[in-house]
Amino acid sequence: MTRPTDQPGHTPAQDEEARLAALNAYGILDTPPEPAFDDITELAALICDTPIAVINFVDRHRQWFKSEQGLGVRETPLDISICAHVILQSELFVVPDTRQDARFACNPLVTGEPYLRFYAGALLKSPEGFPLGTLCVLDHRPRELTEKQRIALTALASQVMNNLELIRVQQAQAALIEQLQSAQKELIHLASTDPLTGLYNRRAIEERLSQELALIERGRAPAALMLMDLDHFKTINDDFGHETGDRVIEHFARVCKNVFRQSDIIGRWGGEEFVVLLPGATEAEAWQAAQRLHQSLRQTPLVGDEHPPLLITVSIGLCSLSKDCELEDTLRQADELLYQAKDSGRNRTVCASATTDGETPDDLTTPD
Ligand code: GH3
Ligand code: MG
Ligand code: MG
Repeated sequence: MTRPTDQPGHTPAQDEEARLAALNAYGILDTPPEPAFDDITELAALICDTPIAVINFVDRHRQWFKSEQGLGVRETPLDISICAHVILQSELFVVPDTRQDARFACNPLVTGEPYLRFYAGALLKSPEGFPLGTLCVLDHRPRELTEKQRIALTALASQVMNNLELIRVQQAQAALIEQLQSAQKELIHLASTDPLTGLYNRRAIEERLSQELALIERGRAPAALMLMDLDHFKTINDDFGHETGDRVIEHFARVCKNVFRQSDIIGRWGGEEFVVLLPGATEAEAWQAAQRLHQSLRQTPLVGDEHPPLLITVSIGLCSLSKDCELEDTLRQADELLYQAKDSGRNRTVCASATTDGETPDDLTTPD
């Protein structure tokens, strides 16, 4: 940041705006007390032997105290501030007796509570040269500072600025870490998502299947697994074009998202094939979900300008994902069941076992 006084032609108002911007950039105003700053005011009061020590920042209409010893308030209006004078002055500003100084003799903080008679303030200056506030010590009686106390107060003011810079670096680092984390999240999302449908891609769904199987082997209830393939999809591509084919795939994904539960995991296995993992679901429960899907597809045509309303159907192979079963074998079983569904007329679900009321697998198919 360029200090405006380095740029000829700037008005005092512009300078003040730039100074306030520099102060605000630290994000220190109205933050809670912190030991790193309280230690400094405690030391300042101790070294200078004063009852009051304050780290003070001069805001637009107030002076605000990051730390204070012996004052009991965290901000005061600017029009009665002594520090507001200081930030325009030298590195260290000392008023041995406020009553003897025309600038402060009538100040209500001098004439009334807390009867401030002595003031010494070391400037808090940003690296760009903006005066931000002061580290000051105050007393109720007139006095002076020794040379050593002056040096110590100035050194402690530098420590305040070092703390501020450190906080700024930490904030920048935290922002950077947050950016990196969200970029990483985005990358993970992209790497596991099918771009056309927004469903899990094959790699991600394989990973979820392995994770689920590992949990089942450790005692979790078995899951149900569906392998689904759109019927006569090639005809849609051939009749209406690849673009429409893509719209159909998106449409199917949307219907699936509506039909299945939030906890079910839907993935695009490839082309016009999909997998659904239903954690904790029995085959009977999954079969019900499959019926809802068949029904929803029957009731939801894909409408578009460039083709007539399209009703699609799907064939589904359904089995359980349970322990003592290799994932590959379960997938092969689902694929065989899907093949049976295709073979027996499509637009149906074929289930591995009897699931409800003694129905046999053959009963568990959905007719056209
Ligand atoms: P079936 O009922 O036996 O499954 O018949 P089908 O026509 O659906 O099966 P087939 O495997 O013969 O055709 C699948 C077609 O899906 C072939 C391929 O070009 C098309 N396809 C695969 N991926 C995509 C895609 O991302 N977009 C589009 N538009 N078409 C795709
Ligand atoms: Mg296919
Ligand atoms: Mg197909």
